[in-house]
Amino acid sequence: MDVKGKHIVIIGGARSGVAAACLLKHKGATVFVTDSGPIPDVSLARLEREGIDFEQGGHSGRAESGDFAVISPGVPSDAPLTLAWLGSGRNVYSEIEVSWWFSDSPLIAITGSNGKTTTTTWVHHLWQTAGLSCRLGGNIGIAYADLVDQPIAGEVIALEVSSFQLDHIDRFRPRVAMILNITPDHLNRYSNKFENYTASKLRIYENQGPDDYLIYNFDDPVLKKHIEVLSRLDSCPKLLGFSDQNEVPAGAFVRDDKIIFKMDNKEDFLMNVGDIGLRGRHNLNNGLATALAARAFEIRNEVIRDSLMQFEGVEHRLEQVRIVRGVRYINDSKATNVNAVWYALKSFNEPVVLILGGRDKGNDYSEIAGEVQSKVHTIIAIGEGRQEIERQLGNEAPYMLTAESMEEAVAIASKKARRGEVVLLSPACASFDMFNSYEHRGQVFKEAVRKIS
Ligand code: ADP
Repeated sequence: MDVKGKHIVIIGGARSGVAAACLLKHKGATVFVTDSGPIPDVSLARLEREGIDFEQGGHSGRAESGDFAVISPGVPSDAPLTLAWLGSGRNVYSEIEVSWWFSDSPLIAITGSNGKTTTTTWVHHLWQTAGLSCRLGGNIGIAYADLVDQPIAGEVIALEVSSFQLDHIDRFRPRVAMILNITPDHLNRYSNKFENYTASKLRIYENQGPDDYLIYNFDDPVLKKHIEVLSRLDSCPKLLGFSDQNEVPAGAFVRDDKIIFKMDNKEDFLMNVGDIGLRGRHNLNNGLATALAARAFEIRNEVIRDSLMQFEGVEHRLEQVRIVRGVRYINDSKATNVNAVWYALKSFNEPVVLILGGRDKGNDYSEIAGEVQSKVHTIIAIGEGRQEIERQLGNEAPYMLTAESMEEAVAIASKKARRGEVVLLSPACASFDMFNSYEHRGQVFKEAVRKIS
C-alpha cells in the first residue's frame, strides 16, 4: 500500500495510535492525531518531536477530513467519530492492519480470551532459546507499528493481538495465527453479544492461505464448529490443533502424560508433561501452542523442549511471591475474568484462601462454584464487587469474609491459611476501583505479602 501524499487521521493518541502516526508519516503520508480526551505526556512529547499535528480534549472538523482513518484499540467502534468515518463510506483501519502493509518479517499473531501475554512471551523465549531473532509486541511491549518502522533482517515478530485490533483489519495476514480460547470477556464492547466478540477473534485467519498456519485450541467448543467450516475451504491454512484432553488429527496433544506432535500422520514424542516449567493446565495448553508455532518454523524438538522446561512465566500471572511458614502466596492479579480464575484454581491441589473482587464486569461466578467448593476454605472479597461475590459465592465456601484494602485482605489470609496451603489473589474483576491497573494491584499484593513477618 502506497500512502505517499495521503492524508490520514489517527483516532486515539495513546501508544499504538502515535506509533501508527509515526510509521505512516515516515512512509510519506500527512497525519493528524485526534483524541476526545487528554493525550498522555509521553505521546505528546513524541508527537512534538516528530512534528505531527494533533488535537486533544475533543474533535474538530479536521478529525473528519482525510483519505482514511486509523483507530486505536482503546476507541470503541461505535464512537461518534468512528461512525462518522464509516458512515461516509471511507475506510477505518486498525494499527495492526496499517503496520502489516509495511512489514516483511514473518508474523506470529496470537489472540484468545486468556493466555495471550503468556504465550506471546513464551514464543519469544523459545526463539531466544533457539538463538533466533524474535521481537515481541502488540498489546504488550512495543507497538507493532514501531517494530515495523525499524525492521531487523531475519527476525520473526510475535504479536499479541486483541479482538479490538482485529475489528478493523482488511488484508492483515499472519504467517502463523493462533487462537488460544474464546470465552466471554469485554462483551460491553460488542453490544453484549458473544457472537460478535467471537467473530472478531476469528478474523485473525480470514486472509490466510494454504501456506500459512492456524494453531487453535482443539477442545474449545466455540472454535470447533468454525474450524470445521474453515477446513472445507480451498483457502484453508494448515490447521494445527492443540489439546490436553483429546488426540488431534494434526498438531500437539497429550497421551499418558506425554506430549506428542502429530504431523502428516506421523507421531513424534516431545517430552513428559511433568517436565514443563510452568504449573497449571492452562499453561500446558499455552506451552503446546508455543511448541506448534516453533514446529511451523521448523525449530528442533530439543530446543522446544528446553524452552518448555525453562520458561518461568510472566509477572502477575500465577506468579509465586513467597512461601511463609509453609503457605505459598500467589499473585494472579491479571485474572480479570472468571474463566482465568477457574484455570488458576485448577492449577492447585492444595486448600486455597482466595482473594477475589474489584470492579465487577457483570460476572457470573457459577463457573467457579465447583472449584470453590472442592478447594477454597476462605474467600476474602475486596472492592466494589464484594457484595455481589458474597451473594453468589457466599454458600460455596466455609468462610466468606470481606476486606477494605489489599493489606487487610493479606493480613486476614495469613491468619486463615495453614502450612501446605495456598493464598491466591485471582480477582476475576478489573482493578480500577482501588488501583491504577492490574499491575498496580499485583504490586500492592506483593508488597503486603513481603511485609508478613
Ligand atoms: P491475556 O494476555 O490474554 O490477558 P495472560 O497471559 O496475561 O492473558 O493471562 C491472563 C490470566 O489468564 C492469568 O490469570 C493467567 O493465569 C490466565 N491464563 C493464562 N493462560 C490461560 C489459558 N490458556 N486459559 C485460561 N486462562 C489462562
